Amino acid sequence: MKRIAVLTSGGDAPGMNACIRAIVLTAEHYNIEVFGYRHGYNGLLNQEYKPLDRDKIANILQAGGTVLRSARCLEFKSEASAQKAAANLDELNIEALLVIGGDGSFRGAHHLSQYWDKQIIGLPGTIDNDIWGTDATIGYFTAIETALDSIDKVRDTADAFERIFLVEVMGRHAGFIGLSAAVSAGADQVLLPELIKDSTSALQSILYHIQTARKIKGNTSYIIVITENLWPGGVTALSEVLTKETGTDCRPVILGHVQRGGSPVAQDRMLATKLGAYAVEAAIAGKTHIMIGESAHRVVEVPLEETWSKTKELDPYLVKIQSQLFDIAQGHIAQNLD
Ligand code: ADP
Repeated sequence: MKRIAVLTSGGDAPGMNACIRAIVLTAEHYNIEVFGYRHGYNGLLNQEYKPLDRDKIANILQAGGTVLRSARCLEFKSEASAQKAAANLDELNIEALLVIGGDGSFRGAHHLSQYWDKQIIGLPGTIDNDIWGTDATIGYFTAIETALDSIDKVRDTADAFERIFLVEVMGRHAGFIGLSAAVSAGADQVLLPELIKDSTSALQSILYHIQTARKIKGNTSYIIVITENLWPGGVTALSEVLTKETGTDCRPVILGHVQRGGSPVAQDRMLATKLGAYAVEAAIAGKTHIMIGESAHRVVEVPLEETWSKTKELDPYLVKIQSQLFDIAQGHIAQNLD
């Protein structure tokens, strides 16, 4: 194997740079050239690339974002685009393409594989952690830390003013960041897409918990962690309802894109480095159409289609203890109300 290529696609995540670095250093170790395509699949279509070597990736390990830039590329879904990308890759004699991204980017890789007969390997890079086959994705740990840091700060001001705060975290379809941040921050409630199916009945239980907790503990801070796009009308609408129904000031805090940024924490750097290095060795070994992930501290090879056709579930034990703590509070509340 003489030349491989790498690109970052879809939502960016801290640790993507660490992964690019590991790929380049490992490839150099095996005397393989690496070309970095820019702007996700757009780079493949426009032949926008740069050769990467040890100097180009110096000091990117600790940087958030991605030096290759990321992007969405809707036109890549067409047959013509995939054919063009295949021709461009062949023109540069690329023997394997490494795609760092989320499940959308892996679908793109699969689409390309129908028109390109060389090797394609995926690396899970997304803060959402919603990819089946790997315990964690690159960027997830940093996003939890970022959310946690913000919730801790919100707690301070919530305490001072005895307010209710609704903190919205990312995770459109999955509650991984929400659950981890809520448990780590000791949030009073957590509202996740996996747990809330009907907002009307959920509202009653949210209100009941706030009101009974306040009867027991008096006016203290109360933090609810909620994932984006979960509530009809968003967190602003929900906070208005809660303010009206509880008579207590409820403020929304939307963390938003801040969760995508920042220097990757050690866990993300290690994961990115391990998976990036392994991906190059898997390419040399002739592997294709797989994602490199990690399960129980071991690197694993996962068939690409399984990464999106199977659904990763929240840790059931973490869900159990979050609701168990809630139940304990309820038991305490019930006793003290008599
Ligand atoms: P993520 O990789 O973070 O899940 P997206 O879902 O936005 O992000 O996907 C990133 C890109 O992957 C898209 O903009 C598109 O270029 C490509 N892609 C996604 N789904 C497909 C598909 N079915 N066919 C071809 N390309 C796709």
